[in-house]
Amino acid sequence: MSWRADVLTLFPAMFPGTLGESLAGRALEVGIWSLKITDIRDFGLGRHRAVDDTPFGGGAGMVLRPDVVDAAIGAVADERPLIFLTPRGTPLTQAKARELAEGPGAVLVCGRFEGFDQRVIEARAGQEISIGDYVLSGGELPALVLLDAVIRLLPGVMGHAESSTEESFSEKLLEYPHFTRPAEWQGRAVPEVLTQGNHAAIAAWRQAQAITTTQNRRPDLYAQYIATGASAP
Ligand code: SAH
Repeated sequence: MSWRADVLTLFPAMFPGTLGESLAGRALEVGIWSLKITDIRDFGLGRHRAVDDTPFGGGAGMVLRPDVVDAAIGAVADERPLIFLTPRGTPLTQAKARELAEGPGAVLVCGRFEGFDQRVIEARAGQEISIGDYVLSGGELPALVLLDAVIRLLPGVMGHAESSTEESFSEKLLEYPHFTRPAEWQGRAVPEVLTQGNHAAIAAWRQAQAITTTQNRRPDLYAQYIATGASAP
């Protein structure tokens, strides 16, 4: 059965967007996943189909009305996880993407303006997910990012070797650097170990590179790696 995504948005034309191309696009065509877009505006109120209103307590901007968003959700919600894209949410991780990929699909709700009235998130018991500590103008790009992260993990989307990676120490690390032809370019040679065909030596070199790169660039990830009981280089 295919993985089913529903997206609720005020900008339906932003979908499938980048997900219509390449790996995700082909997977969509062959039915590995499906995408249904709901225009929140269709549930707007009155002649102008209003979806937002001014914030209680004052302040700049507009807030998405809970009744309107709830009605839009009611039209599609089922047993799938319900996710509100918000900068206040739990950061998206590879583990979360894997968890979602193992389920039946997801219902994603994209905010705009100042965001959602908090009551609809609570009433629907939705999860809030953020794609990073920065503020975008809407939840559409975050929804595309989340979907991309999930879809490449679905069986049949990528080559077996990459898609079947299990949770492991190595996943807490940044990847080792890659090199391809030419072996020498602008006076820079590829690391010698990679050209000598000694697979054990190559694996050890890559692991050491992954560890030192993580230590230098992402002390936060490195600390998690050490905490899992792995040894320092
Ligand atoms: N006033 C809010 C920002 C609203 S941005 C605040 O300061 O927290 C408008 C919409 O864009 C949000 O409702 C959300 O759906 C989306 N959005 C912006 N940045 C995001 C991020 N980093 N992750 C997920 N969604 C985001």
